Amino acid sequence: MKLYNSLTKEKEGFRSRQPGVVKMYHCGPTVYDYVHIGNLRSFLLGDIVRRSFEFLGYEVKQVMNITDVGHLVSDGDDGDDKMTKGLKREGKDITIDNMLALATTYVDAFTQDLTDMNIRTPHHLPRASEHIQEDIDMITTLEQKGFTYTTSDGVYFDTAQMADYGKLGGLNLDNDSEGRITENTEKRQLADFALWKFDAKLGWESPWGQGFPGWHIECSGMATKYLGSQFDIHTGGADLRSVHHNNEIAQSECATGCSPFVTYWLHGEMLNVQGEKLSKSTGGNITLNTLREKGFSPLAYRYLALQTHYRSPMNFSWEVLQAADNGLHNIYRDIMRLREHATTTHGCVSGNYREDFAAKIEDNFNLPQALAIFHDMLKSDLSDADKLITAYELDTVLGLGLEDYEGKEVLVNQELQELLDKRKAARDAKDFAESDRLRDAIADMGYTISDVDGEQHLEKK
Ligand code: AMP
Ligand code: ZN
Repeated sequence: MKLYNSLTKEKEGFRSRQPGVVKMYHCGPTVYDYVHIGNLRSFLLGDIVRRSFEFLGYEVKQVMNITDVGHLVSDGDDGDDKMTKGLKREGKDITIDNMLALATTYVDAFTQDLTDMNIRTPHHLPRASEHIQEDIDMITTLEQKGFTYTTSDGVYFDTAQMADYGKLGGLNLDNDSEGRITENTEKRQLADFALWKFDAKLGWESPWGQGFPGWHIECSGMATKYLGSQFDIHTGGADLRSVHHNNEIAQSECATGCSPFVTYWLHGEMLNVQGEKLSKSTGGNITLNTLREKGFSPLAYRYLALQTHYRSPMNFSWEVLQAADNGLHNIYRDIMRLREHATTTHGCVSGNYREDFAAKIEDNFNLPQALAIFHDMLKSDLSDADKLITAYELDTVLGLGLEDYEGKEVLVNQELQELLDKRKAARDAKDFAESDRLRDAIADMGYTISDVDGEQHLEKK
C-alpha cells in the first residue's frame, strides 16, 4: 500500500504501528445542521480507506468525532460557536440542554446518511460534549509543561514554545502580517489558539473558569482516548489541514511528549458547485434529502464521488449526477442479468481481476482506476457465475450495494408519486386512456411501469 502523506508531501509505503492493524481518526461533522454532500465526500474518504484496508486483510479500528460544542464560526477564535448559530436559527434559547438536543437531531440524521450512502459506521462516534474531562486533562498537562497562557477570554496555546509548530504547512506564521491587527490583541503570536474559552452563561466548570473547550483540543482529546498517543492515519477535508490539524498535532505532541502523533495524514479535496466550495456557512446546502427529492438515490452520489480521486477537487452538477445514476442502473441491470444466468453454478472470484483491482487501491486509493477494472471485468469473457461473485467481491470496497440489490428499489419523489396516484385512480375508474397518458408521462421521467396483481411496479429504464 502506498499513500500520499500530507505531512511529508510524498507518496510513501504504508507501515502500521501494529502489524495487521490500522488505527485511524476522521474529523466528523459539526452537528448544527444537516451534513451536505461536500461533508459526505470527506466521510466517504474515511470509508474508502477502511474498506480498502479490510479488503487487503487488515483489521481496522476507526474513530470519527461528533462536534456538538466549541466549533467557532471563525478559525481565529472569534464569533459565535456554530451550535449557538444553529440554536438561533431555530429560535431556541441558548442553553446547554437545547444545544445537546439540537445536536442529537442532527446526529441521528447524519448516521442515517452514512447508512444510506453505505458508509460503514465507525467503531466509535464520540461526542465532544461527553469528553470535556479529557480536554481539561490535556489542557492541564499542557499548562504544567508551560505551553499555555491565559487572556481575558480564554486559555491559549503558545505556539512559540513548540519548535516545529506548523509542520503540516499552509500557515501564515508572520506575526507582523495584516491579520495581527484585526485579531485578538492579547494573543502572543498570531497563530496561537484557544484551548478553553470562558463563557459565564454557557459551559462547563474547569480549573480556569466556566466555559467550553476549543474545537481543536476536542479532536486531540478524543483521538488520544480511543486510539492512544500515536496512531496510523488521520483524515479530514483539505480545508482543515493548515489550522485545525496543525493545532491538533501541536496539542497532542506537546501533551503526550510522543512524536509523531499521526504517521500518515490524508486530506480529501473539496466538492465544488459551479466552481465554489460547497459550504453551509455560505448558504450552499445540497444534502442527501435534496438529492432524494429529485429522485436520486444516495448510492448514485456515492458512485459519482468514486469517479474522482480524493485528492482532486470534484465538481457537482445535476447533469453529472444524472449520468452517474444512469451508470449505476446499468451496473444493477448487469447484476440482475448475471444472477439470472448464474443460478445453477457458484462462481469463483477471478484472481487476476482481484489482483488488478487491489493494485489500484494500493496506489493511494485510486478508485477511478479501480472502477475501470471493475467495468473491464463485467465486459470480460469470464463466466457469468464468476463475474457475479467477482463483482460482489470488488463491491466490498466500492460499496454500491450489489449483493443487496433487489431490482425494485426506485426512489419515488413527490412528482412521481402524484402521477402514480392519479394513474391508480384512473385505472380504478377504468379510464384507460388517462391511465395510458399517465404511463407515458411516467416513462418520460425515465421509468417503466408494470401492473402486477393490481399494484403498480416501477423500474428505472
Ligand atoms: P464540518 O461539519 O464543517 O466540521 O465539516 C466536516 C467535514 O467536512 C470536514 O472534514 C471538512 O473538511 C469537510 N468538508 C466541508 N466542506 C466540504 C466540501 N465542500 N467538500 C469536501 N469536504 C468538505
Ligand atoms: Zn478534527
